[in-house]
Amino acid sequence: MSAYPNAAVLDSTAPAPAADSTACAPADFSADPCRGGDAPLPVLGRDVTVPLADGGEITYAALDYAASAPALQRVWDDVAAYAPYYGSVHRGAGHLSQLSTDLFENSRAEIARFLDCRPGDQVVFTRSTTDSLALLARALPAGCEVFVFETEHHAALLPWGDARRTVLDAPRDPAEAVTTLERALADREPHGPALVCVTGASNVTGELWPVRELAAAAHAHGARIVLDAAQLAPHHPVSVRDLGVDWVAFSGHKLYAPFGSGVLAGRADWLQEAEPYLAGGGASRTVTRLADGGVDVQWHTTAARHEAGSPNVIGAYAIASACRALTEAGFDRLVVRERRLIARLRAGLAEVPEVRVLSLFGDDHPRVGVLSFVVEGWDSSRFAAALSAGYGIGVRDGLFCAHPLVRVLLGGDPAEPGECGAPGSASALAAVRVSFGAGTPDEHVERFLGAVRELVRRGPDRD
Ligand code: PLP
Repeated sequence: MSAYPNAAVLDSTAPAPAADSTACAPADFSADPCRGGDAPLPVLGRDVTVPLADGGEITYAALDYAASAPALQRVWDDVAAYAPYYGSVHRGAGHLSQLSTDLFENSRAEIARFLDCRPGDQVVFTRSTTDSLALLARALPAGCEVFVFETEHHAALLPWGDARRTVLDAPRDPAEAVTTLERALADREPHGPALVCVTGASNVTGELWPVRELAAAAHAHGARIVLDAAQLAPHHPVSVRDLGVDWVAFSGHKLYAPFGSGVLAGRADWLQEAEPYLAGGGASRTVTRLADGGVDVQWHTTAARHEAGSPNVIGAYAIASACRALTEAGFDRLVVRERRLIARLRAGLAEVPEVRVLSLFGDDHPRVGVLSFVVEGWDSSRFAAALSAGYGIGVRDGLFCAHPLVRVLLGGDPAEPGECGAPGSASALAAVRVSFGAGTPDEHVERFLGAVRELVRRGPDRD
């Protein structure tokens, strides 16, 4: 395997650096001018310019990380370095197939370390968080009940098929979330299997959920819990062991690794017993033609059971690369930096009385760099469009695929239908979302605040 330049990634036994490590990475990452300081991590697209309505142009301010974050330069470099060595995974005798297989499996091991998984946990590669939760939904044991809060993203609210689903009311504070769940679990038939699905950080408010407490409550009532870490993992270290969750799901494209992969990691038993997510090559251990014309299949009991077809090795490697980059940059440092930007953003918006920031748990509650708001007198889609046309700022408007939550936050009628955050939708029941992360320079936040002040001063009729 020596032909491949980044040999460290081929060594699944290589220890992951400590979370607060500031040690230099072996190769290109040492060239990162931002390491160790209060600067953003280099991401792709940071110098891209976009046209403005007045005919000028400006560097793009990507403030829509919660939808899809730009790729870390480090991830891009790692993928580019590997690309010439690309080969089939688990299905080739050639040198590059062997190398690619090692890279794929070691990426799995790297991600397991990043998530602080328990011995015996499986890391299954999927396409995204939506795909991961859909896979788990297909692996529920018979009679399993599912408990979700109405505040969940649709990816967590919807995939549960025929399972009996209890949708819990939005809590007003974290303690109420725990008591609401406890009450619902206490009311259920005690002996059947049950699953709780909860987000780690809201994709609408950015607020952190009391995951550890919810996991303890679930387990105390004989239920299991899956953490939707789509918005948490890019902003905070996630420890499966410490949080006590049974599974965690997240997407590469929100974790600076936009190459089409996601992850479901956690307990093996339900996954091993379930029908394969896709039937096909790679998932099957042996296939035998039967005399009666049928086919007997022995399925793998490893993660491969749910990864039929040729796997996305680049997607898997990109996620592992992002995990390594965040760890080596010092995730704790990134958290501190992000908190500073959140405080600046919130303080700036608080000076504009026409802006109402949406919150479930209140101003003082900890959050990640995701914030939604409405502006008095403005349609949210027009406001978002004006930010783009006048200032080169990319945000999202709508209901963010969390319709019930946004309706709760806006005090709307829960029965009123609304589009899934389609940009440009003229619904009065919609908000603007600004979100950022490890690659966001201070200038983007300052530009955004200046634009908000200016647009509010000018009013909607002059945009
Ligand atoms: N869960 C949350 C909290 C999200 O914010 C999202 C996407 O925005 C998802 C799940 C779905 O992620 P994906 O679109 O990558 O499947």
